[in-house]
This record gives sequence, structure tokens and C-alpha cells, in this order.
Amino acid sequence: MRSGLVDFHCHLDLYPDHAAAVERCERDGVFTLTVTTTPKAWPRNHELASATRHVRAALGLHPQLVADRAHEIGLWEELLPRTRYVGEVGLDAGPRFYKSFETQKKIFARVLSLCAAAGNKIVTTHSVRATKAVLDMIEQYMPPPRGRVVLHWFTGTAAEAKRAVDLGCYFSVNAEMLVNEKRTAITKALPLDRVLTETDGPFTQTDARPATPSDVWIAVEGLARLHGLTPADMSATIMRNLKSLLAEQS
Ligand code: MN
Repeated sequence: MRSGLVDFHCHLDLYPDHAAAVERCERDGVFTLTVTTTPKAWPRNHELASATRHVRAALGLHPQLVADRAHEIGLWEELLPRTRYVGEVGLDAGPRFYKSFETQKKIFARVLSLCAAAGNKIVTTHSVRATKAVLDMIEQYMPPPRGRVVLHWFTGTAAEAKRAVDLGCYFSVNAEMLVNEKRTAITKALPLDRVLTETDGPFTQTDARPATPSDVWIAVEGLARLHGLTPADMSATIMRNLKSLLAEQS
């Protein structure tokens, strides 16, 4: 088992046995950020993560749930002082969620503003079909000195990647972002010193079953190939990037 891997966006509470999923990260030495889709899920995630060295729990309100759960922003605000890690939050302008896009923007503006006011937060962010809107809102509500955004599963253009870098963003890259030429070209536009890895498990697959944090080595190998590095060097780069991200602003 490779240790020292980083899965910076995974939903450990959506596996059949949440506690066992947390335990596996700890056993395998995978530094894992477990994200929540509703703030109601955060206290239990935080409780399980707190007993570990490798797992931390992020406080989220997923844009795909905002249509039904916008009122939970109150609970989200109440819990925010208890964690540095925020997510999954962001915007989704895909056809299934576009009807709530205006509400999503209100919630995301509130999230970023409160994170900016608190300072030193790390925010793992969803941006499906909404890269430009997400970047506009980061610029407006939480510019670089006030916090750090990690763009999860980035699908923007090279110009948008450049803009995100200027806004201090990091990128968490999963194996799906390396499966074909078009996606690989986008991934290659991300500067090596801002790249982290993720699985987004259980929403991605490895060998026709839900990916787990240990499967993140597939993304490490893909990134290594893309940049002409050995997997060990790529893995060391990702660990260094994680340390830089965590060291910033604190
Ligand atoms: Mn996710």
C-alpha cells in the first residue's frame, strides 16, 4: 500500500460503512478531506475525523441540494467557527439544477463572505458549467488574502485556469480528468505547484466499483505521465502542495 497519498475531495459518509471508510484512510495513510453535502452531516463527520491523523471534515451545503435545503445555511453559519475546512459548496448550472441557480448564487455569496470575514478557510468548490460565475464570485467575495479555494473537478478553459491561479486557487484532480485527450489537455493547463488529487468517491468508479481514497494513486500516476515525472516525484509534489496550502495565511 502506498502511503502519503492525498484525496482532497471525497464523501466518506456516503459509503455503506462511514466509520470503516474513515478507518481505512487512517490505516492506509491517505490524507483525506471528507466533504459534506449538508451541514447536518458535519458534526458526525467531524467527530470521526477528529480521532484520526489523516482525515479532516469539511462543512458543506452542496449546490445540487440548495433547491431544497437553502434554509440550512443558518446551521452552516453556526458551525463555521468550528472548522477551517469548507465544502462541498459552489455552483451547478447543469440542466438538472439550473432552476435553483439564483438561489445557489445567494448561498455561495453568503458562504464566501462569511469565510472571508473569518479568514484562513480552505473551501473545496464545485463549478459544473459555472466556472466563470464561480471565479467572479471568488474575486468579489473572497479574494486571495481572505481565504483559499480548491477547485474540485475543474472543467474550465486554459484562460479560466490562469484566472483561477491569479485568484490563489488550487485544483484537485481526479482520474476522470485524465481519461481522454480533451480532458487531459485541460488538466495539463493547471500549474504543477497548485495541483492536488481527489477521488470524489463514491461518485467515481475504479474497476467498476465506487472509488475509495486509496484509489487516488491512479490520478497520481496519470498526472506523473502527463508531466513526465515519476509517480514518486508527482506524489511528493502533491504532498508539498498540500503543505503549502495548509501553511498559507495561518
Ligand atoms: Mn463531490
